[in-house]
Amino acid sequence: PFATLCAMFDHAVATTPGTVSLRHLGASVTYREEGRAASALARRLAAAAAPGEAVALLLPNSIEFRVAFFAALKALAAPALLNPLYPGPQLEPLLRDAAPRAVVCSPATHELVLALAASLGIPGVVCLGRDTTVAELAAEPEAPPLGRRAAEPGDVAALLFSGGTTGVPKAVEHTHGRLVVATRCMEYCWPTRASGEVWLPVAPFTHIYGFLQGVLCPVSARAETVVPERFKPEHVVELMAGHRVTVFGGGPPAIYAGVLSAPNLAGADLSALRVCPAGGAPMPVELLERWRRATGREIHEGYGMTEIAPISGTNGLTGVRPGSVGKAVPCNEVQVVDLETGARVLPLGERGEVRVRGPHMMAGYRGRPEETAQAIRGGFVYTGDIGHLDADGFLFITDRKKDVVLVKGFNVFPREVEEAIYAHPKVAAAGVVGAPDPRTGGERLVAYVVPRADEALSEAEIAAHCAERLVGYKVPDDIRVVEALPMTGAQKLDRMALRRMVRDEAA
Ligand code: ATP
Ligand code: MG
Repeated sequence: PFATLCAMFDHAVATTPGTVSLRHLGASVTYREEGRAASALARRLAAAAAPGEAVALLLPNSIEFRVAFFAALKALAAPALLNPLYPGPQLEPLLRDAAPRAVVCSPATHELVLALAASLGIPGVVCLGRDTTVAELAAEPEAPPLGRRAAEPGDVAALLFSGGTTGVPKAVEHTHGRLVVATRCMEYCWPTRASGEVWLPVAPFTHIYGFLQGVLCPVSARAETVVPERFKPEHVVELMAGHRVTVFGGGPPAIYAGVLSAPNLAGADLSALRVCPAGGAPMPVELLERWRRATGREIHEGYGMTEIAPISGTNGLTGVRPGSVGKAVPCNEVQVVDLETGARVLPLGERGEVRVRGPHMMAGYRGRPEETAQAIRGGFVYTGDIGHLDADGFLFITDRKKDVVLVKGFNVFPREVEEAIYAHPKVAAAGVVGAPDPRTGGERLVAYVVPRADEALSEAEIAAHCAERLVGYKVPDDIRVVEALPMTGAQKLDRMALRRMVRDEAA
């Protein structure tokens, strides 16, 4: 194990210099080139940011992303990871929170970044692909060392924004030491080899899940990483077969559902594939089975959050229990406490809020002391998720506290209703939310359902299907067949957008 992410990266560069580290859009770099480019870019970033100051990355999943990330670390700066697909007005508050001294962007966001940098007073902007390129940086003659001290485990190594599912994304500070532990935990959940893996990450590198799967874990494993152009299922399947991918980065269910819908999946040779992790949102049991039938591989579902990831992992070393998110990783203490006070640890099997403590939890949200005090109490991170532990220590996540719908005096968990809808063979995806019900003064359930390609699906069919599987009050009052569901930047179902859709339709 390494003390810092810099040591981990330098080890990969020093021990496997000639191995291809990344492929993207027909280009590739070796670890030696990635290391050289990162050192050269570090000099430019060090000119803009003093040690400890932030450097924002506004880059798509790419070779440039990884070079810029390790460049910022080499400069002793704190990389702030921002989703380049967020529009300007959504980025501005996040940039204010991060307060970077420089932004690294791509030509696609250059204009926007220049405007934001001018209005926020950020002095440095580097556009990779315009100001310079990774190939140019890698070819620069090796310069003398920067003259800054080496990174230490307590230095901030990433500023990650939470998924933005329940509100504005919050900036979470993680240190080198905590992220090294997080990487080790991922390797424990999803055993991969110390070299020779071919990795295909798809989730955004700016989100904790994609960051671990696309940046930290492959570097730790000294793997070759094949970065798809964007998340286009057919293209992903082509790359998986063509490069004999061994680890599919996966992510939330939408990513698996997407690949399952690819028309070329049936004939593809995926015999090299071994590891298929998932996490970030509840994975319907139906999708686990569809994936097993289509690829012959198990999905290894884990559970975590930006504030502490991973919390648990299923399959692999930690055991298998369908529907559960697995056992806690060894360094985590996972407890289920009562919903009212959050102070009483509940007996096994009882449902309550999940709280977690471990060496890789965040110190707090940057610049938000009140929200930090809400999230961390008595040394535990309160997840806001409802779940229970079984007698063998497997954790089951029922739903988020904030998503519970009160129907006719009963608590309904949207996840249970969605699982039932997913079981219909013509369904590709489903999302359920609560809406005010003027008749009862409580709430009613509204379900949005996406049919599988080429399937005609009626609202009545879904209603009948639900009525067979669920007690009356859990059957949605309102079912809408739609072409697609709104997704967050982290590729999760955007329930806030769904609730807005219901409101707008009612108005
Ligand atoms: P925000 O906190 O900004 O509202 P978010 O909670 O979605 O967004 P993340 O940190 O990306 O931000 O996600 C963590 C949450 O994702 C967990 O609290 C949990 O609700 C959900 N989650 C993650 N993995 C799983 C899983 N395997 N099963 C069910 N839920 C999961
Ligand atoms: Mg959250």
